[in-house]
Formats: sequence, structure tokens, C-alpha cells
Amino acid sequence: MEERIDLKTLLPGELETLLLSMGEPKYRARQIFAWLHRGVADLSEMSDLPKSLRAKLGERCFITAPQILRRQVSARDGTIKYLFGLADGNSIETVLMQYEHGNSVCVSTQAGCKMGCVFCASFDPKKSRDLRPSEILDEILFAQKDSGRQISNIVLMGTGEPLDNYDNVMTFLRLVSHPMGINIGMRHISLSTCGLVPMIRRLEEEKLQLTLSVSLHAPNNALRSRLMPVNRAYPLEALIPACKHYFETTGRRISFEYAMIGGVNDTPECARQLIALLKGFPCHVNLIPLNHVAGSPLEPSTRDDLRRFQNELLKHGLNATVRRSLGGDIAASCGQLRRQHNEEVDL
Ligand code: SAH
Repeated sequence: MEERIDLKTLLPGELETLLLSMGEPKYRARQIFAWLHRGVADLSEMSDLPKSLRAKLGERCFITAPQILRRQVSARDGTIKYLFGLADGNSIETVLMQYEHGNSVCVSTQAGCKMGCVFCASFDPKKSRDLRPSEILDEILFAQKDSGRQISNIVLMGTGEPLDNYDNVMTFLRLVSHPMGINIGMRHISLSTCGLVPMIRRLEEEKLQLTLSVSLHAPNNALRSRLMPVNRAYPLEALIPACKHYFETTGRRISFEYAMIGGVNDTPECARQLIALLKGFPCHVNLIPLNHVAGSPLEPSTRDDLRRFQNELLKHGLNATVRRSLGGDIAASCGQLRRQHNEEVDL
């Protein structure tokens, strides 16, 4: 049997081609695209399409719609964390955060990550799979629909390595930034990577105006390889030049993420090494107090160590900020809700 088409993964031009192949006028593409991007879960809701067309589409296509398995709302800051169930039984996490400048959604790009960073709760190679463009888009559409809050910013910082699911992530970016859909511009999107160097090079060629964040977390190879196995394949002497090249080609400043782990990467020596590594490179360093993961021996840096570290970077001309932590009361750091849920299901 011919495989059914995932309707929401199609761009308007592809929808037109599909409609023409079915003997339908191509202007219907615009209507269908708009309905899909409003989060309708069923063809029957597309009320301005002829019944015959809905029936024909129903035979050849399907529409993704995640189930809300859990919703946690922070009493402190209004952060909402969703656990969405996918059609194949897998689940993913999405976090909706409120800032003064608007609502931001943190999306997962894979169900379970394969990268194995030691401080992260998302590592799950057995259950890992790539999300399709429609499934990533659904995180935004259904968070928006459920919360009634208009989304203006997206960060690809949930579970998964976006550059390890490259083609699907690129299609997602085209869908979400399309003027006929929810139209979130690239300047309102950040993509975070653990540092897959060949894929950073490929992304550079796309010349997108998004913000590239690179998870650095350590200023030398010995420590970085211990914290992030990916560093053994792409060590700092490959990663940093790739970041510099990316900036030179795109003109977009890179944001380095640095999770502050007490006694591990927050020492004065680490600050000195980080300054030497990034000296003269126009970039931004985002210091993130480590989110404690249940069962992990790693602890966040103390406030004093964090401030001392930041001041040292600032003194040497590095643009370093400390990320405000949201949703602390609902264990909002990535991967924790999915992990809890899977453990309960596996019992
Ligand atoms: N795979 C991508 C994006 C997902 S992780 C990446 O590695 O960048 C998003 C960010 O959260 C990364 O910087 C990641 O290193 C960081 N992170 C993961 N676990 C964390 C934790 N327990 N505390 C603080 N930051 C964490």
C-alpha cells in the first residue's frame, strides 16, 4: 500500500503540487495550509473545503495531533510544561515561557537524545527517534492552542540535537516562518547545538538569520570530553574555528551556553581558560545555573562562584550574562518530565 502523506509537513508549494495531482485547483493549498497552522486536528474542521475534497484528502493523507499527557503550570512565573504523546506512543516535552517581550516556546527536536552529555536528563538512545517537521510544529501549535497565549519566539533547546535531525529541522523552520502560517521570523528563533561541526558548516550555507547557540560547558578538551562525549569527535580546535567561520559568513553572533557546575567548570582556572579561548571573538556567553537532575552527583555552582566567574569574564571584555531560571517549581529543565513519565510506564 502507498504510504499516507503527512499533510502538515508540506510547504504551500508542495501542497499545490499534491492538489494539482488530484485534479483540484491549487488555491486550495492556501486554505489547507492556514487551517493546519491554526492547529486543526481533523479534515472535517476545514469548513470552507468541499466535502468531496476532504474525503479525497482523507484517503491519501493524515494530520498529526499530539495528545496532552501532562500539563504542569508554575505558580511562580506562569511557565507551562507539556508532555505530548505522539501517534507511535513516544512522548516529548515542550515548555512555554512568559517573558516581558512575549511568549517563547522551547521545543524538542527528537524523542530522546543520543548525545549523552552527563549533566542532561534527555539522554535516551533506546527510545530515541527523529521528530518529523509536523511533530515539531505541533509543539508550538498545540501549546498556543491550549494556553491561549500567542507565541512570538522559539528556542530549539528541548530534548534532542537539532543538527542530528537536520533535514526535518530545516523543513520545520521553513514551515514556522512561512508568512501564510504562524509566521515567526528567523530573528525570533534560536537553535542550540552540542557542536556537530560538519552540520554547523552546512547550516552556515543556509544563511539564516536565526541565533545559533553552541553548548560549550567547558574551556578545555579534557573536561569537555568528560562532560560531553561529542567533544571526542569534534574537539575545541575544530569547534571554535567553525563558530568563527559561521559568524564571519552570516554576521550573526554566536551565543555560547555554559552550565555552571559546582567545583567542576566554575573555578578561576576555568574562567581564565575560557577567556583565552574566546578572546577577541564577538560572541555572547550565557551562564546557566545547572538544573539539578534527580540521581546525579552534579550540583549547581553557588551564587558567589557564579558571580565571580561572570565578573572575571566581564573584566576581560567578554559579554557574559546569567540566564534567569524559570519554572523552578515544576522541574522544568529538559527531559525530566518525560523521564518521570517513562519510568512510571515502565514499572
Ligand atoms: N542538543 C542541543 C539542544 C538541547 S539542550 C544542545 O546540546 O545544545 C539545551 C541546552 O540545555 C544545552 O545547552 C544543554 O547543554 C543544556 N542543558 C542540558 N541539561 C542541563 C542541565 N541539567 N542544566 C543546565 N543546562 C542543561
